[in-house]
Amino acid sequence: MGSEMASDQAEPHVRAPVRAPVGAAVGLAVLLTLLAVVSRQPTLDSPGFATVWPAGGIPVLWFLVRGAGVRSPDTVLLAGALVAANAVLGAPTAVNLVFAAVGVGQTLLAVGLLRRWSGQLWGCGGRRPLERLRALPAYGGALVVAMLAGAVVGTLGAWVVAGDLDLMGGVLLFGRNIVSALIVVTLGILVGAWLTGPRPRPSLVGDAGALELVAATVFSVALYGLAFSFYDLPLVFPLLAATVWFGVRFSTLACAAHSFVGGVVTLTLTTTGSGPFAAVQRDDVGALLAEFYVAIIVVTGLALSTGRDERNQLAAQLRRSQEEAVYQVSLRQAVIGSMVEGLFVIDDAGDLLVHNAAAARIFGLPGDELAWEDLVERSRQWADGAEVAVHERPSVRALNGEPVHDAELKVVRPDGTERIVSVFAIPLPHDEARDRARALVLFRDISAEHARRKELAAFAGVVAHDLRNPLAAIDGWTEMLADELDLGELDPELARQFVSRVQSSSARMHRLIADLLDHATSAQRELQLGPVDIAAIAREVAAARDVEAHVRVDPVPPVLADPVLLRQVIDNLIGNALKYVAPGVVPEVIVRGGCGEGSGGRVVTVEVADNGIGIPEGERQRVFEEFHRAHHRGYEGSGLGLSIVRRIISRHDGTIRVRANPAGQGSVFEFTLPAYR
Ligand code: ADP
Repeated sequence: MGSEMASDQAEPHVRAPVRAPVGAAVGLAVLLTLLAVVSRQPTLDSPGFATVWPAGGIPVLWFLVRGAGVRSPDTVLLAGALVAANAVLGAPTAVNLVFAAVGVGQTLLAVGLLRRWSGQLWGCGGRRPLERLRALPAYGGALVVAMLAGAVVGTLGAWVVAGDLDLMGGVLLFGRNIVSALIVVTLGILVGAWLTGPRPRPSLVGDAGALELVAATVFSVALYGLAFSFYDLPLVFPLLAATVWFGVRFSTLACAAHSFVGGVVTLTLTTTGSGPFAAVQRDDVGALLAEFYVAIIVVTGLALSTGRDERNQLAAQLRRSQEEAVYQVSLRQAVIGSMVEGLFVIDDAGDLLVHNAAAARIFGLPGDELAWEDLVERSRQWADGAEVAVHERPSVRALNGEPVHDAELKVVRPDGTERIVSVFAIPLPHDEARDRARALVLFRDISAEHARRKELAAFAGVVAHDLRNPLAAIDGWTEMLADELDLGELDPELARQFVSRVQSSSARMHRLIADLLDHATSAQRELQLGPVDIAAIAREVAAARDVEAHVRVDPVPPVLADPVLLRQVIDNLIGNALKYVAPGVVPEVIVRGGCGEGSGGRVVTVEVADNGIGIPEGERQRVFEEFHRAHHRGYEGSGLGLSIVRRIISRHDGTIRVRANPAGQGSVFEFTLPAYR
């Protein structure tokens, strides 16, 4: 609607989209003169001019199509054609000249007014057909004013030159001109706009089909036949039914064509003495009535069909808007549904207006069971566990108009697990209709990132501590060695002791650095999966450590794994099994495996059993954490080995645990890996 109004205002200044060539002007001048010849026969006596001669309509349409103005050659051509036509119709020279001048004047006035008042119409400066009811008054008004002015000036002019004031002639002149303008100009504008308009061209039959067009045409012909056969009966009123049919069911163009034909038929038959109008006693009154009748059917048809066209356009526009709205909604749903971030739109009445699947997933709740109070209840702590005060909540701050960035909250899910989320909350435009503040809350699950951050901090602390210790020892021993050297009385035995302590400290640092490198590799190395024979690896590890006698390797089914990382696993487990034995006990390690069905397909379970000191019940989970050691005294180590093992196993989608050895002494480390088929 807005764009229509805008174009209404913008288009009057645009010149006609088509300018017919000069040849068309000459053709029209000839046509005008020829029409005068044709309409000479049925001339009524009183005004001395042909009633059907369309002197009002054709010149106006001609000037519109040509985009012609006062100073164009068309003005001269029109004047010439009018003089010729009036001469053909037998007008005395003086009267002829007056009416030719009046004809030119009223044409220029009509064209000027149409361009000014109906500039959006095709030929008048714009491109639109006559398709809207509210365009009719300005359009009809322009024609009426011009034709009325022409009739008044013409009548007065004829009075001056011929000395005879013919008022009835003037009224007939006006009627003839306005009727011809209405039927000719209207049809011309509609045809022009239809031919030059955008394709596909609108259907001529409007709401109806071709069959109905045939039926309506037959109906019209029959009605006109009836009305004009019984001219002693006033059977004109049924003719309106045909106009109504065309106006209600067919396009404005089809309806205008119908009015054009009906008008020409009515006027022609009336002037040739047939039909109900010719039956009126006074010829001039009959002609006037015929003109009045034609004007009525033209205007009625136009009003009905433009109203219908307008209604259809509005309905189509509404349909398009609805389709657009539906599309926008589905687009919005698709976008927010596919987001990785959780999304809530809430208002200050505590209503959850919009949420997405990710939000429900992060909270571990079914999507249709989200209630704002529950969500608030589940996110009452900051990431570090401190309670969030009500006024500090991101949603509350956003509802109060303050945007919140990167607040980290803890979400407690119904199953007791916790997620850490990073929250953005943004105030939304106020809901004026319900007077409510609204806010958008976006949040991202950063649990993994958060855990990594925590792990990194702990890791850095421990690494710094564990590297600093041996370094301090090295510093201490070398300092003492230097002091002894300064004194010049270094006992070689003491010096050997110092050096061996420095060597063992540096060996500890080497091991720690090697473990740290392994730790990093276990996380970052890209998995290169292939068939792996764990028994063979175990035998190699035992051979490399020269402990074949203490390690028994039973057959293990092949697994699908990264051989380099698996070697690290086996080496760590066998190394621990040999290391954590009570003094005096001869270590005995057994590596064995078997196949079974897991949830993700066939899995191989591998066991590394030892006869060592065992791991206390409460420590069996924690030994897999970075730097956690269950035995500090008497056993060297960094506390990284089992965390490396667990990480490698879980990267292969396996699990690992440790239990007491059922044989009575020691532990059994048991892990799973996908079987190789
Ligand atoms: P490290 O051996 O360097 O201390 P690990 O991560 O390999 O580190 O092991 C963590 C802890 O688990 C060890 O400190 C030890 O207390 C315990 N542990 C590991 N393997 C065994 C085992 N086979 N028997 C008894 N305790 C073990």
